[in-house]
Amino acid sequence: MNSPGVKPVVELKRLTRSFEQGGERIDVLRGVDLAIRPGEIVALLGPSGSGKSTLLQAVGLLEGGFGGEIMIAGHSAEKSNSHARTVLRREHLGFIYQFHHLLPDFNALENVVLPQLVADRPRAEAEARAEELLVALGLGHRLEHRPSQLSGGEQQRVAVARGLANKPDLVLADEPTGNLDEATADRVLGEFLSLVRGEGSAALIATHNERLAQKMDRVVRLHEGVLE
Ligand code: ADP
Ligand code: MG
Repeated sequence: MNSPGVKPVVELKRLTRSFEQGGERIDVLRGVDLAIRPGEIVALLGPSGSGKSTLLQAVGLLEGGFGGEIMIAGHSAEKSNSHARTVLRREHLGFIYQFHHLLPDFNALENVVLPQLVADRPRAEAEARAEELLVALGLGHRLEHRPSQLSGGEQQRVAVARGLANKPDLVLADEPTGNLDEATADRVLGEFLSLVRGEGSAALIATHNERLAQKMDRVVRLHEGVLE
């Protein structure tokens, strides 16, 4: 599956995760194996409750409690302490959620600038990058609008720009258009994919929409805790 010599941006080996629910143990992930090559766009399909968000949380290094191995750009997550995991996250990963989670008191531009300042990019560069992304997404006339002044599709485009702001090697997107009507979802996803392709980032995109998944390079399906 992987060309020799190319290091995957993420590699999961025998990933497991269980939860306690009402005194019962449920095994959500039962040994997930996955490798994503640089620049590859992968759709993660599976019905609601199949563990898509749980899998993305594992790759996002935001939660513990997983068994197996998680490698990000060749670095083992288990062998990294919490500071090192934060650095891995900041240097390699970008996140886009179903609900935009934009900061309500900041305008569109600032919402895309902030994660870059956190990554120590100088403000002028961060602003230029934010504007470039927002213009590419058709929001050049909305830079100073706050989230509440934007439509759902526009809010989600800002979230896309924010997720890509730090030029991540891998973008993790959890049902990024799940909150939009069908026509808007198609448009935003199309723009998102062409931007990601143009930037050369890889992406892992959870969706339960088969039709949208067909626009990606590869489809993997979560079924009974493993990928097929
Ligand atoms: P999906 O994103 O595919 O809808 P999730 O990953 O959100 O699925 O959830 C998979 C299963 O894990 C569900 O049965 C859910 O109830 C359970 N689950 C997820 N997170 C937790 C948690 N923090 N505590 C208990 N159960 C959880
Ligand atoms: Mg989910």
